[in-house]
Amino acid sequence: MEHRLDHRDGPRDECGVFGIYAPEHDVARLTYFALYALQHRGQESAGIATAHRGANIIAIRDQGLVSQVFDDNTLRSLVGDLAIGHVRYSTTGSSEWENAQPIVRDDRRTLALAHNGNLINAVELHAELRGADVPFRSTSDSEIIAALLATHPAQRIDEAVADVLPRLRGAFSTVVMTEEAVVAFRDPHGLRPLAIGVIEGLGGGEDSYCVASESCAFDLIGAHYLRDVEPGEVVTLSAAGLRSRRVATDQRRAFCVFEYIYFARPDSRMAGTVLQVARARMGEILWREAPVDADVVIPVPDSGNAAARGLARAAGLPQDDGFIKNRYVTRTFIQPGQELRRQGLRLKFNPLREVVAGQRLVVVDDSIVRGNTTRQIVQMLREAGAAEVHLRISAPPIKHPCHYGIDMSTREEMIAHGRSVEEVAAEIGADSLHYLSLAGVYEAVGAAREHHCDACFSGEYPLSGTEDAAGKYALELPLVRA
Ligand code: SF4
Repeated sequence: MEHRLDHRDGPRDECGVFGIYAPEHDVARLTYFALYALQHRGQESAGIATAHRGANIIAIRDQGLVSQVFDDNTLRSLVGDLAIGHVRYSTTGSSEWENAQPIVRDDRRTLALAHNGNLINAVELHAELRGADVPFRSTSDSEIIAALLATHPAQRIDEAVADVLPRLRGAFSTVVMTEEAVVAFRDPHGLRPLAIGVIEGLGGGEDSYCVASESCAFDLIGAHYLRDVEPGEVVTLSAAGLRSRRVATDQRRAFCVFEYIYFARPDSRMAGTVLQVARARMGEILWREAPVDADVVIPVPDSGNAAARGLARAAGLPQDDGFIKNRYVTRTFIQPGQELRRQGLRLKFNPLREVVAGQRLVVVDDSIVRGNTTRQIVQMLREAGAAEVHLRISAPPIKHPCHYGIDMSTREEMIAHGRSVEEVAAEIGADSLHYLSLAGVYEAVGAAREHHCDACFSGEYPLSGTEDAAGKYALELPLVRA
Protein backbone atom coordinates (compact mmCIF):
# COMPACT_ATOMS: atom_id res chain seq x y z
CA MET A 1 0.00 0.00 0.00
CA GLU A 2 1.39 3.37 -0.92
CA HIS A 3 1.10 6.46 1.19
CA ARG A 4 2.19 9.95 0.47
CA LEU A 5 4.61 11.60 2.82
CA ASP A 6 5.73 15.18 2.69
CA HIS A 7 9.21 15.14 4.09
CA ARG A 8 9.20 18.89 4.40
CA ASP A 9 6.30 20.73 5.86
CA GLY A 10 7.32 23.70 3.80
CA PRO A 11 5.37 25.16 0.92
CA ARG A 12 5.19 22.80 -2.00
CA ASP A 13 6.37 23.49 -5.49
CA GLU A 14 3.73 23.89 -8.07
CA CYS A 15 4.59 23.31 -11.75
CA GLY A 16 7.25 23.70 -14.39
CA VAL A 17 6.63 24.43 -18.06
CA PHE A 18 8.74 24.28 -21.20
CA GLY A 19 8.13 25.04 -24.89
CA ILE A 20 10.32 24.89 -27.99
CA TYR A 21 10.13 25.52 -31.74
CA ALA A 22 13.17 23.92 -33.34
CA PRO A 23 12.62 22.00 -36.61
CA GLU A 24 16.32 21.11 -36.83
CA HIS A 25 16.34 19.41 -33.44
CA ASP A 26 14.90 16.39 -31.65
CA VAL A 27 12.36 18.52 -29.80
CA ALA A 28 10.94 15.65 -27.70
CA ARG A 29 14.36 14.79 -26.32
CA LEU A 30 15.22 18.43 -25.62
CA THR A 31 11.89 18.83 -23.81
CA TYR A 32 12.57 15.66 -21.83
CA PHE A 33 15.89 16.98 -20.58
CA ALA A 34 14.46 20.42 -19.87
CA LEU A 35 11.74 18.79 -17.76
CA TYR A 36 14.44 16.83 -15.96
CA ALA A 37 16.01 20.14 -14.95
CA LEU A 38 12.60 21.40 -13.79
CA GLN A 39 11.69 18.24 -11.87
CA HIS A 40 11.98 20.05 -8.50
CA ARG A 41 8.91 22.12 -9.47
CA GLY A 42 6.62 19.11 -9.59
CA GLN A 43 6.84 15.37 -9.07
CA GLU A 44 3.22 14.25 -9.43
CA SER A 45 3.04 13.98 -13.20
CA ALA A 46 4.97 14.75 -16.37
CA GLY A 47 3.98 15.17 -20.00
CA ILE A 48 5.23 16.17 -23.45
CA ALA A 49 3.23 17.15 -26.56
CA THR A 50 4.82 17.47 -30.00
CA ALA A 51 3.68 18.29 -33.52
CA HIS A 52 5.03 18.47 -37.03
CA ARG A 53 4.17 21.73 -38.70
CA GLY A 54 0.65 21.29 -40.02
CA ALA A 55 0.26 17.77 -38.64
CA ASN A 56 -1.49 16.32 -35.62
CA ILE A 57 -0.47 16.94 -32.02
CA ILE A 58 0.81 13.87 -30.17
CA ALA A 59 0.88 13.92 -26.36
CA ILE A 60 2.13 11.52 -23.69
CA ARG A 61 1.50 12.31 -20.04
CA ASP A 62 1.22 10.26 -16.90
CA GLN A 63 1.62 10.36 -13.16
CA GLY A 64 5.18 9.98 -11.92
CA LEU A 65 8.61 11.49 -12.39
CA VAL A 66 9.95 12.44 -15.83
CA SER A 67 12.21 9.37 -15.77
CA GLN A 68 9.22 7.12 -14.97
CA VAL A 69 6.86 8.53 -17.59
CA PHE A 70 9.26 8.50 -20.56
CA ASP A 71 11.73 6.03 -22.05
CA ASP A 72 13.56 5.83 -25.34
CA ASN A 73 10.58 4.31 -27.16
CA THR A 74 8.06 6.88 -26.00
CA LEU A 75 10.44 9.70 -26.84
CA ARG A 76 11.01 8.26 -30.33
CA SER A 77 7.26 8.25 -30.90
CA LEU A 78 7.06 11.97 -30.10
CA VAL A 79 8.23 13.32 -33.44
CA GLY A 80 7.88 16.92 -34.48
CA ASP A 81 9.19 20.42 -35.05
CA LEU A 82 7.69 21.94 -31.93
CA ALA A 83 6.95 20.72 -28.43
CA ILE A 84 5.74 21.71 -24.99
CA GLY A 85 6.24 19.93 -21.66
CA HIS A 86 5.05 20.07 -18.09
CA VAL A 87 5.89 18.75 -14.64
CA ARG A 88 3.16 19.05 -12.08
CA TYR A 89 2.59 19.31 -8.43
CA SER A 90 -1.17 19.73 -8.12
CA THR A 91 -2.52 22.94 -6.63
CA THR A 92 -6.00 23.50 -8.03
CA GLY A 93 -7.65 20.23 -9.03
CA SER A 94 -6.75 16.86 -7.60
CA SER A 95 -3.78 14.79 -8.68
CA GLU A 96 -5.63 12.32 -10.89
CA TRP A 97 -4.39 11.29 -14.31
CA GLU A 98 -6.91 13.58 -16.03
CA ASN A 99 -5.15 16.54 -14.46
CA ALA A 100 -1.72 15.67 -15.85
CA GLN A 101 -0.52 18.11 -18.50
CA PRO A 102 -0.11 19.08 -21.31
CA ILE A 103 -3.87 19.25 -21.73
CA VAL A 104 -4.98 18.56 -25.30
CA ARG A 105 -8.24 20.05 -26.55
CA ASP A 106 -9.92 19.58 -29.90
CA ASP A 107 -12.65 22.21 -30.25
CA ARG A 108 -12.68 24.93 -32.87
CA ARG A 109 -8.92 24.42 -32.99
CA THR A 110 -6.65 21.67 -31.66
CA LEU A 111 -4.10 22.69 -29.08
CA ALA A 112 -1.96 21.46 -26.21
CA LEU A 113 -1.42 23.61 -23.12
CA ALA A 114 0.77 23.58 -20.02
CA HIS A 115 0.28 26.02 -17.16
CA ASN A 116 2.03 27.04 -13.96
CA GLY A 117 -0.04 29.11 -11.57
CA ASN A 118 -3.55 29.45 -10.25
CA LEU A 119 -6.55 31.33 -11.62
CA ILE A 120 -8.53 33.18 -9.00
CA ASN A 121 -11.57 33.67 -11.27
CA ALA A 122 -11.67 30.02 -12.36
CA VAL A 123 -15.15 29.40 -10.90
CA GLU A 124 -16.72 32.24 -12.89
CA LEU A 125 -14.95 31.29 -16.14
CA HIS A 126 -15.84 27.63 -15.71
CA ALA A 127 -19.54 28.48 -15.17
CA GLU A 128 -19.50 30.63 -18.30
CA LEU A 129 -17.97 27.87 -20.43
CA ARG A 130 -20.28 25.20 -19.02
CA GLY A 131 -23.19 27.53 -19.82
CA ALA A 132 -22.01 27.43 -23.45
CA ASP A 133 -21.93 23.60 -23.31
CA VAL A 134 -18.15 23.38 -23.40
CA PRO A 135 -17.23 19.95 -21.95
CA PHE A 136 -14.42 19.41 -19.42
CA ARG A 137 -12.37 16.32 -18.72
CA SER A 138 -10.33 17.52 -15.78
CA THR A 139 -10.75 19.43 -12.53
CA SER A 140 -7.83 21.75 -13.24
CA ASP A 141 -8.09 25.47 -13.83
CA SER A 142 -5.54 25.00 -16.61
CA GLU A 143 -8.22 23.34 -18.74
CA ILE A 144 -10.30 26.50 -18.44
CA ILE A 145 -7.51 28.46 -20.18
CA ALA A 146 -7.19 25.66 -22.75
CA ALA A 147 -10.96 25.67 -23.40
CA LEU A 148 -11.11 29.46 -23.76
CA LEU A 149 -8.31 29.32 -26.36
CA ALA A 150 -9.50 26.20 -28.18
CA THR A 151 -13.02 27.60 -28.64
CA HIS A 152 -11.86 31.11 -29.57
CA PRO A 153 -12.85 32.26 -33.09
CA ALA A 154 -9.60 34.14 -33.87
CA GLN A 155 -7.68 32.87 -36.87
CA ARG A 156 -4.31 32.64 -35.13
CA ILE A 157 -3.51 31.26 -31.70
CA ASP A 158 -1.53 34.33 -30.64
CA GLU A 159 -4.56 36.51 -31.47
CA ALA A 160 -6.74 34.22 -29.33
CA VAL A 161 -4.23 34.49 -26.48
CA ALA A 162 -4.13 38.30 -26.75
CA ASP A 163 -7.92 38.38 -26.45
CA VAL A 164 -8.23 35.84 -23.63
CA LEU A 165 -5.30 37.00 -21.47
CA PRO A 166 -7.02 40.11 -20.04
CA ARG A 167 -9.95 37.93 -18.89
CA LEU A 168 -7.76 35.67 -16.73
CA ARG A 169 -7.11 36.71 -13.13
CA GLY A 170 -4.40 35.21 -11.00
CA ALA A 171 -1.07 33.62 -11.79
CA PHE A 172 -0.36 32.05 -15.14
CA SER A 173 2.93 31.31 -16.83
CA THR A 174 1.60 29.29 -19.74
CA VAL A 175 2.75 27.61 -22.94
CA VAL A 176 0.23 26.64 -25.60
CA MET A 177 0.96 24.82 -28.84
CA THR A 178 -0.94 24.37 -32.09
CA GLU A 179 0.35 22.50 -35.14
CA GLU A 180 2.07 25.74 -36.24
CA ALA A 181 3.41 27.60 -33.24
CA VAL A 182 4.26 27.65 -29.57
CA VAL A 183 2.87 30.66 -27.72
CA ALA A 184 4.11 31.56 -24.23
CA PHE A 185 2.34 34.11 -22.06
CA ARG A 186 2.62 35.41 -18.55
CA ASP A 187 0.08 37.10 -16.32
CA PRO A 188 0.23 40.92 -16.15
CA HIS A 189 1.67 40.78 -12.61
CA GLY A 190 4.41 38.31 -13.55
CA LEU A 191 3.70 36.20 -10.46
CA ARG A 192 5.41 33.03 -11.64
CA PRO A 193 8.65 32.93 -13.64
CA LEU A 194 9.03 32.31 -17.38
CA ALA A 195 12.22 32.82 -19.35
CA ILE A 196 13.22 32.75 -23.03
CA GLY A 197 16.25 30.78 -24.27
CA VAL A 198 17.97 30.62 -27.64
CA ILE A 199 19.72 27.68 -29.29
CA GLU A 200 22.23 28.90 -31.82
CA GLY A 201 21.69 27.59 -35.35
CA LEU A 202 23.60 24.47 -36.36
CA GLY A 203 26.33 25.22 -38.93
CA GLY A 204 25.36 28.88 -39.17
CA GLY A 205 21.68 28.04 -39.62
CA GLU A 206 18.71 29.76 -38.04
CA ASP A 207 18.56 30.20 -34.27
CA SER A 208 15.82 28.30 -32.42
CA TYR A 209 13.90 29.53 -29.39
CA CYS A 210 12.51 27.95 -26.27
CA VAL A 211 10.79 29.06 -23.06
CA ALA A 212 11.06 27.57 -19.59
CA SER A 213 9.97 28.23 -16.02
CA GLU A 214 13.61 28.54 -15.01
CA SER A 215 16.86 29.19 -16.81
CA CYS A 216 18.43 25.99 -15.38
CA ALA A 217 16.46 24.13 -18.09
CA PHE A 218 18.43 25.99 -20.79
CA ASP A 219 21.81 24.95 -19.40
CA LEU A 220 20.97 21.28 -19.79
CA ILE A 221 19.93 21.52 -23.47
CA GLY A 222 22.64 23.86 -24.74
CA ALA A 223 20.44 26.96 -24.89
CA HIS A 224 21.37 30.42 -23.60
CA TYR A 225 19.18 32.58 -21.42
CA LEU A 226 17.95 35.47 -23.55
CA ARG A 227 15.53 37.31 -21.23
CA ASP A 228 12.38 36.84 -19.18
CA VAL A 229 8.94 36.82 -20.76
CA GLU A 230 7.63 40.16 -19.50
CA PRO A 231 4.46 40.33 -17.41
CA GLY A 232 1.50 40.60 -19.79
CA GLU A 233 3.66 39.65 -22.79
CA VAL A 234 2.68 37.12 -25.46
CA VAL A 235 5.67 35.49 -27.17
CA THR A 236 5.20 33.40 -30.30
CA LEU A 237 7.78 30.84 -31.48
CA SER A 238 7.14 29.75 -35.07
CA ALA A 239 8.63 29.56 -38.57
CA ALA A 240 8.76 33.37 -38.39
CA GLY A 241 11.21 33.17 -35.46
CA LEU A 242 10.39 34.93 -32.20
CA ARG A 243 7.58 37.50 -32.16
CA SER A 244 6.34 39.43 -29.15
CA ARG A 245 3.42 41.64 -28.20
CA ARG A 246 2.51 43.24 -24.88
CA VAL A 247 -1.15 42.81 -24.06
CA ALA A 248 -1.37 44.20 -20.55
CA THR A 249 1.24 46.67 -19.31
CA ASP A 250 -0.44 48.82 -16.68
CA GLN A 251 -0.68 46.36 -13.80
CA ARG A 252 1.36 46.25 -10.62
CA ARG A 253 4.23 43.80 -10.98
CA ALA A 254 4.21 41.11 -8.32
CA PHE A 255 6.87 38.46 -8.87
CA CYS A 256 6.77 35.75 -6.18
CA VAL A 257 9.56 36.50 -3.71
CA PHE A 258 9.47 32.88 -2.53
CA GLU A 259 10.99 31.81 -5.87
CA TYR A 260 14.24 33.47 -4.74
CA ILE A 261 14.14 31.92 -1.27
CA TYR A 262 13.00 28.40 -1.93
CA PHE A 263 11.21 27.26 -5.10
CA ALA A 264 13.66 27.85 -7.89
CA ARG A 265 16.82 25.82 -8.35
CA PRO A 266 19.94 27.52 -6.97
CA ASP A 267 21.56 27.53 -10.42
CA SER A 268 18.66 29.44 -11.97
CA ARG A 269 19.04 33.12 -12.68
CA MET A 270 16.30 35.50 -11.54
CA ALA A 271 16.31 39.29 -11.16
CA GLY A 272 19.77 39.22 -12.71
CA THR A 273 21.21 37.05 -9.90
CA VAL A 274 22.12 33.38 -9.69
CA LEU A 275 20.01 32.21 -6.77
CA GLN A 276 22.82 30.30 -5.07
CA VAL A 277 24.60 33.63 -4.61
CA ALA A 278 21.44 35.44 -3.44
CA ARG A 279 20.73 32.68 -0.90
CA ALA A 280 24.27 32.87 0.50
CA ARG A 281 23.71 36.61 0.93
CA MET A 282 20.51 35.83 2.84
CA GLY A 283 22.67 33.83 5.26
CA GLU A 284 25.12 36.73 5.67
CA ILE A 285 22.27 39.12 6.46
CA LEU A 286 20.71 36.60 8.86
CA TRP A 287 23.92 36.67 10.87
CA ARG A 288 24.07 40.47 10.76
CA GLU A 289 20.49 40.63 12.04
CA ALA A 290 20.88 38.01 14.78
CA PRO A 291 24.41 36.94 15.79
CA VAL A 292 24.77 34.43 18.63
CA ASP A 293 27.58 32.78 20.59
CA ALA A 294 28.00 29.41 18.87
CA ASP A 295 30.55 26.76 17.84
CA VAL A 296 29.42 25.44 14.47
CA VAL A 297 26.92 26.16 11.67
CA ILE A 298 24.92 23.29 10.18
CA PRO A 299 22.42 23.46 7.33
CA VAL A 300 19.22 21.46 7.06
CA PRO A 301 20.15 19.72 3.79
CA ASP A 302 19.65 20.72 1.05
CA SER A 303 17.26 23.60 1.60
CA GLY A 304 19.53 25.42 4.05
CA ASN A 305 22.87 24.78 2.33
CA ALA A 306 23.47 28.08 0.53
CA ALA A 307 22.28 30.31 3.40
CA ALA A 308 24.35 28.29 5.90
CA ARG A 309 27.48 28.88 3.80
CA GLY A 310 26.84 32.63 3.74
CA LEU A 311 26.06 32.74 7.45
CA ALA A 312 29.16 30.73 8.42
CA ARG A 313 31.32 32.99 6.26
CA ALA A 314 29.90 36.14 7.85
CA ALA A 315 30.18 34.68 11.36
CA GLY A 316 33.70 33.31 10.93
CA LEU A 317 32.37 29.99 12.25
CA PRO A 318 33.10 26.52 10.88
CA GLN A 319 30.34 24.88 8.86
CA ASP A 320 29.77 21.13 9.05
CA ASP A 321 27.25 18.48 8.03
CA GLY A 322 25.13 17.89 11.09
CA PHE A 323 22.74 15.71 9.12
CA ILE A 324 23.25 13.10 6.47
CA LYS A 325 20.37 13.09 4.03
CA ASN A 326 19.05 9.98 2.35
CA ARG A 327 18.62 11.17 -1.23
CA TYR A 328 16.57 8.19 -2.31
CA VAL A 329 13.49 8.86 -0.19
CA THR A 330 10.87 10.00 -2.67
CA ARG A 331 7.53 11.61 -2.04
CA THR A 332 5.65 8.34 -2.43
CA PHE A 333 6.90 5.43 -0.41
CA ILE A 334 5.77 2.21 1.20
CA GLN A 335 4.07 2.78 4.53
CA PRO A 336 6.66 2.01 7.21
CA GLY A 337 4.22 0.83 9.88
CA GLN A 338 3.43 2.37 13.27
CA GLU A 339 6.74 1.66 14.95
CA LEU A 340 8.91 3.07 12.18
CA ARG A 341 6.53 5.92 11.47
CA ARG A 342 7.21 7.33 14.91
CA GLN A 343 10.76 7.88 13.72
CA GLY A 344 9.31 9.84 10.80
CA LEU A 345 11.99 12.16 9.64
CA ARG A 346 14.86 9.77 10.27
CA LEU A 347 13.96 8.21 6.96
CA LYS A 348 15.35 11.33 5.40
CA PHE A 349 17.75 12.92 7.90
CA ASN A 350 20.15 11.22 10.24
CA PRO A 351 22.03 13.48 12.69
CA LEU A 352 25.79 13.01 13.02
CA ARG A 353 26.47 12.67 16.74
CA GLU A 354 30.21 13.20 16.17
CA VAL A 355 29.52 16.67 14.74
CA VAL A 356 26.77 17.95 17.04
CA ALA A 357 27.42 16.44 20.49
CA GLY A 358 28.38 19.07 23.05
CA GLN A 359 28.26 21.86 20.45
CA ARG A 360 26.35 25.15 20.38
CA LEU A 361 24.74 24.89 16.95
CA VAL A 362 23.44 27.49 14.51
CA VAL A 363 20.97 25.51 12.39
CA VAL A 364 19.99 27.11 9.07
CA ASP A 365 16.90 26.36 6.99
CA ASP A 366 14.94 28.29 4.40
CA SER A 367 11.41 28.33 5.80
CA ILE A 368 9.03 27.04 8.43
CA VAL A 369 5.34 26.52 7.65
CA ARG A 370 3.65 24.20 10.13
CA GLY A 371 6.76 23.58 12.19
CA ASN A 372 6.43 19.79 12.48
CA THR A 373 9.64 19.07 10.58
CA THR A 374 11.57 21.79 12.40
CA ARG A 375 10.41 20.49 15.79
CA GLN A 376 11.66 17.00 14.90
CA ILE A 377 14.95 18.37 13.64
CA VAL A 378 15.58 20.21 16.91
CA GLN A 379 14.61 17.12 18.89
CA MET A 380 16.93 14.88 16.88
CA LEU A 381 19.82 17.29 17.46
CA ARG A 382 19.16 17.37 21.20
CA GLU A 383 19.02 13.56 21.30
CA ALA A 384 22.36 13.53 19.49
CA GLY A 385 23.82 15.62 22.30
CA ALA A 386 23.68 19.21 21.00
CA ALA A 387 24.39 21.71 23.79
CA GLU A 388 22.33 24.53 22.23
CA VAL A 389 20.23 24.82 19.07
CA HIS A 390 19.88 28.30 17.55
CA LEU A 391 17.64 28.35 14.49
CA ARG A 392 18.16 30.84 11.70
CA ILE A 393 15.57 30.87 8.90
CA SER A 394 16.30 32.61 5.59
CA ALA A 395 12.68 33.73 5.14
CA PRO A 396 10.29 35.80 7.24
CA PRO A 397 7.54 34.03 9.24
CA ILE A 398 4.86 32.54 6.96
CA LYS A 399 1.47 33.64 8.27
CA HIS A 400 -0.85 33.82 5.26
CA PRO A 401 -1.90 31.37 2.55
CA CYS A 402 -0.90 31.75 -1.11
CA HIS A 403 -3.62 32.15 -3.71
CA TYR A 404 -1.26 32.22 -6.65
CA GLY A 405 -0.28 28.62 -7.24
CA ILE A 406 1.71 27.56 -4.15
CA ASP A 407 0.27 24.87 -1.97
CA MET A 408 0.65 25.95 1.65
CA SER A 409 -1.18 24.99 4.80
CA THR A 410 -4.18 26.91 6.05
CA ARG A 411 -3.58 29.95 8.24
CA GLU A 412 -4.50 28.01 11.37
CA GLU A 413 -1.91 25.31 10.61
CA MET A 414 0.92 27.83 10.20
CA ILE A 415 3.01 27.87 13.32
CA ALA A 416 3.82 31.59 13.04
CA HIS A 417 0.16 32.58 12.67
CA GLY A 418 -0.91 34.26 15.90
CA ARG A 419 2.40 33.52 17.66
CA SER A 420 5.39 35.72 18.44
CA VAL A 421 8.85 34.57 17.35
CA GLU A 422 9.62 33.68 20.99
CA GLU A 423 6.46 31.57 21.17
CA VAL A 424 7.40 29.75 17.95
CA ALA A 425 10.90 29.10 19.36
CA ALA A 426 9.34 27.62 22.50
CA GLU A 427 6.92 25.51 20.41
CA ILE A 428 9.72 23.92 18.42
CA GLY A 429 12.12 23.69 21.37
CA ALA A 430 14.91 25.94 20.01
CA ASP A 431 17.16 28.00 22.30
CA SER A 432 16.74 30.94 19.95
CA LEU A 433 15.05 31.62 16.62
CA HIS A 434 15.45 34.39 14.09
CA TYR A 435 13.67 34.81 10.77
CA LEU A 436 15.27 36.91 8.03
CA SER A 437 13.47 40.26 7.72
CA LEU A 438 11.58 41.07 4.54
CA ALA A 439 13.97 43.97 3.96
CA GLY A 440 16.83 41.46 4.31
CA VAL A 441 15.34 39.23 1.60
CA TYR A 442 15.09 42.13 -0.85
CA GLU A 443 18.58 43.34 0.04
CA ALA A 444 19.99 39.86 -0.62
CA VAL A 445 18.34 39.66 -4.04
CA GLY A 446 18.99 43.30 -4.92
CA ALA A 447 15.36 43.76 -5.93
CA ALA A 448 12.71 46.38 -5.17
CA ARG A 449 9.80 45.31 -3.00
CA GLU A 450 7.17 47.21 -5.00
CA HIS A 451 7.63 44.81 -7.92
CA HIS A 452 7.05 41.66 -5.88
CA CYS A 453 4.47 39.59 -4.07
CA ASP A 454 5.28 38.74 -0.45
CA ALA A 455 1.69 38.15 0.67
CA CYS A 456 2.41 34.90 2.53
CA PHE A 457 4.70 36.91 4.83
CA SER A 458 3.07 40.33 4.88
CA GLY A 459 -0.60 39.55 4.19
CA GLU A 460 -0.55 42.28 1.51
CA TYR A 461 -2.04 40.54 -1.52
CA PRO A 462 -1.13 42.29 -4.77
CA LEU A 463 -4.37 41.28 -6.53
CA SER A 464 -7.50 42.70 -4.94
CA GLY A 465 -10.07 40.21 -3.70
CA THR A 466 -7.62 37.56 -2.54
CA GLU A 467 -7.21 38.46 1.11
CA ASP A 468 -9.93 36.16 2.34
CA ALA A 469 -9.60 32.85 4.08
CA ALA A 470 -7.68 30.03 2.45
CA GLY A 471 -9.64 27.79 0.20
CA LYS A 472 -12.20 30.36 -0.91
CA TYR A 473 -11.07 30.02 -4.48
CA ALA A 474 -10.35 26.32 -4.40
CA LEU A 475 -12.10 24.61 -7.26
CA GLU A 476 -14.08 21.48 -6.91
CA LEU A 477 -15.34 21.21 -10.43
CA PRO A 478 -17.61 18.33 -11.33
CA LEU A 479 -15.66 15.75 -13.30
CA VAL A 480 -17.24 15.72 -16.74
CA ARG A 481 -16.13 13.21 -19.30
CA ALA A 482 -16.60 14.39 -22.87
S1 SF4 B 1 1.83 34.55 -1.53
FE1 SF4 B 1 3.96 33.92 -1.17
S2 SF4 B 1 4.24 32.00 -2.32
FE2 SF4 B 1 2.35 32.99 -3.07
S3 SF4 B 1 3.02 34.20 -4.87
FE3 SF4 B 1 3.07 35.58 -3.10
S4 SF4 B 1 5.19 35.40 -2.31
FE4 SF4 B 1 4.83 33.67 -3.68
